[in-house]
Amino acid sequence: MSRFVAAIDQGTTSTRTMIFDHGGNVVAVDQREHEQIFPQAGWVEHDPEQIWANTRATAAGALANADITASDVVSVGITNQRETTVVWDRHTGKPVYNAIVWQDTRTDRVITELGELGGGQERYREKTGLPLATYFSGPKIKWILDNVEGVRARAEAGDLLFGNMDTWVLWNMTGGVDGGIHVTDPTNASRTMLMDLSTLSWDEGIAADMGIPLSMLPEIRSSSEVYGTVRERGALGGVPIAGILGDQQAATFGQACLSPGEAKNTYGTGNFVLLNTGTDKVLSENGLLTTVCYKIGEKATVYALEGSIAVTGSLVQWLRDNLGMIGSAAEIEGHARTVDDNGGAYFVPAFSGLFAPYWRSDARGAIVGLTRYVNKGHLARAVLEATAFQTREVIDAMNADSGVPLRTLKVDGGMVVNDLLMQFQADILGVSVIRPKVNETTALGAAYAAGLAVGFWQSEEDIRSNWAKDKEWDPAMDEVRREREYRNWKKAVTKTFDWVE
Ligand code: ADP
Repeated sequence: MSRFVAAIDQGTTSTRTMIFDHGGNVVAVDQREHEQIFPQAGWVEHDPEQIWANTRATAAGALANADITASDVVSVGITNQRETTVVWDRHTGKPVYNAIVWQDTRTDRVITELGELGGGQERYREKTGLPLATYFSGPKIKWILDNVEGVRARAEAGDLLFGNMDTWVLWNMTGGVDGGIHVTDPTNASRTMLMDLSTLSWDEGIAADMGIPLSMLPEIRSSSEVYGTVRERGALGGVPIAGILGDQQAATFGQACLSPGEAKNTYGTGNFVLLNTGTDKVLSENGLLTTVCYKIGEKATVYALEGSIAVTGSLVQWLRDNLGMIGSAAEIEGHARTVDDNGGAYFVPAFSGLFAPYWRSDARGAIVGLTRYVNKGHLARAVLEATAFQTREVIDAMNADSGVPLRTLKVDGGMVVNDLLMQFQADILGVSVIRPKVNETTALGAAYAAGLAVGFWQSEEDIRSNWAKDKEWDPAMDEVRREREYRNWKKAVTKTFDWVE
């Protein structure tokens, strides 16, 4: 009888459940989008209860689509949008506020104030691997405690729990108010700005700076072990939950970047380049993050350098939803192909400030280089090129930090179906870009973590042997043009600074 592993992928725009076989192939999927709530400029929220309902629905849907039952599933893994912050009441299971999403910039002032305690943007770098930025969970928790009425007292009384989406979903899956397990893994914890990267434990000093009671924080377990089982009433009732990885670390795992020096880039709402640095915790001097890549059971912690880019695929969505310039994301390639180049236009999508390598929360978006000549095709191209230029910036930073230039880049995510973008990416990087056969690397990585924990896969070698290439793009642009384009891009970036005081 065939056996399968399930993965729940709780992403920024949707939640999906996927079923994988032993070869790492997708057997079935079910997916639901959730609402993006924009209460004011710079704020982004999700409804945690809608996300939990979608999780249950997709788990049932994926099993039905695969025509299997829970008894055919050996374990389930969870992967999730990282940093997004939920605080809820442990007695009622009700969130005290919407989830504050990773892209949300409302903690601008919190960040400045924390920096003023001493050390500025680098205050927590050595302990957490992160610069002070609106991106991370800790300041978002502080915002909720400071701004939602009555919440601080309830938190101090021990009535409230914090979680990223992995923790929220797992707590609910394991029973919620009725015995729910309150845990996370080190990849997620490393994005809260509350965890000590060396000891993998919560840092009391940082939590005290932010006024966050330690009783709210989940227990940090490994990324691959049995945490508990799904409560009997659920679609996956009785199945052990055995893996947790933040989405980008899951993709790195699913791409089999398991040795130091191997890197992947995921092209989704934003882009995230992760370079496996092995058991070395490399602190960046060039604007990258140091983060936990994965921790498999009792094995040593593996670290990564990360270049996080806030806006890439979501710029394509913006063109569709806010400007109505395209009917679907896929249409952008056709428009871009009507012209040979960007016509001199550069689009810097600093909608959430700029993340790596700049970390400027004062930046806002700009289109520069416009002349009467520029048309819709040029703008479509500028939109796609923005993704590739931003990627080049973080890869340059990675090469500088690691001292070893990257030779090839493994890619995945929703945008890698775009052939024009992938060719331009290879051109502007000057290295080959490789897409694997299974593009669903995020869910796959969580499935691997869950499958390893229960012996469905024996070792990381199984993961390597399942990985296979689908397509490769080789650089074809001449060096002079490549560097001229990149210089123009860098100049365009400088035009986005100092927009928010
Ligand atoms: P996430 O997991 O972050 O929700 P996905 O990996 O599903 O995102 O990727 C979706 C993103 O890819 C969207 O932002 C969408 O605009 C973009 N996208 C989808 N298809 C294309 C395409 N053909 N060309 C360019 N961008 C695309």
